[in-house]
Amino acid sequence: MDQIIIENLQIFAHHGVYREENEKGQNFYINAVLETDIMRAGRLDDLELSTNYGEVCRFLDQFIKGHTYKLIETVAEKAAEAILLRFPLVRRVTLEVRKPEAPVPLSFESISVKITRGWHRAYLSCGSNLGDRKRHLDGAAEALRADDKCRLLKVSDWIETKPYGGVEQDDFLNGAMELETLYTPEMLLEKLHEIEYAHGRERKVRWGPRTLDLDLLLYEELVMDTKELTVPHIDMHNRYFVLEPLMRIAPYAEHPVLHKSVRQMYAELTSPEAAVPVS
Ligand code: ATP
Ligand code: CA
Ligand code: CA
Repeated sequence: MDQIIIENLQIFAHHGVYREENEKGQNFYINAVLETDIMRAGRLDDLELSTNYGEVCRFLDQFIKGHTYKLIETVAEKAAEAILLRFPLVRRVTLEVRKPEAPVPLSFESISVKITRGWHRAYLSCGSNLGDRKRHLDGAAEALRADDKCRLLKVSDWIETKPYGGVEQDDFLNGAMELETLYTPEMLLEKLHEIEYAHGRERKVRWGPRTLDLDLLLYEELVMDTKELTVPHIDMHNRYFVLEPLMRIAPYAEHPVLHKSVRQMYAELTSPEAAVPVS
């Protein structure tokens, strides 16, 4: 990815753990690397197609002057997020916050923290078989649209499917969504749970009836397995009701463990019924 680079932007601000730092202030220096596609801007010589580095500098200056935090870690975290929200063409930002006058009574050139943050592509599946199913799924899409840390890119049609997992219950309405998000996978799962609860989700019977179920299918090429979260979703490749709608919005998205595209996994489902275990 192309880069726009800002080096040692000097900003007088009041961050620090000590009261004296908050009162007197000191110089901070910012290094920023913005990852963004600038080929079209360069070819057409058009600033509208790029990110104005002058504006980024002014924005950083105002933001870092306008807040007071104890930690430079927090300065970096908040400023990186603010840049990603304010400048839509920036996909990732690496931000270094240097503090050469840090109150450490030893000789050093500067102390700094450096972080990289960005937008991450994720795929979700959604399902409902209780109450007004369409309203619950539409509501989930709406809630994600309303969150500034998510950019909902694609929403599939909602399709009717048979229940999975051997519990006798009504048919489902299922769908899939593609989004970009600033959330980590754990934070995204928390957000999905919040939306489920706002739609009256209760967890009683495993694979039982539910107003709204939101699962994280894929998050970039990430592979993780903790007590709370398994990504890719552990059973996505066996499920018609997951792959059918996902096929419609992301046939070439890839499963990073099986190394198969959605299209391929879908083709390998022998039949919709075969995806439903009889146990
Ligand atoms: P299944 O996961 O087989 O589709 P379910 O969706 O009915 O079953 P839930 O009761 O909604 O299961 O979720 C149980 C727990 O699964 C959640 O609290 C969450 O911590 C965990 N979990 C693990 N991986 C994922 C994932 N990729 N997406 C959503 N939840 C997950
Ligand atoms: Ca599920
Ligand atoms: Ca779930």
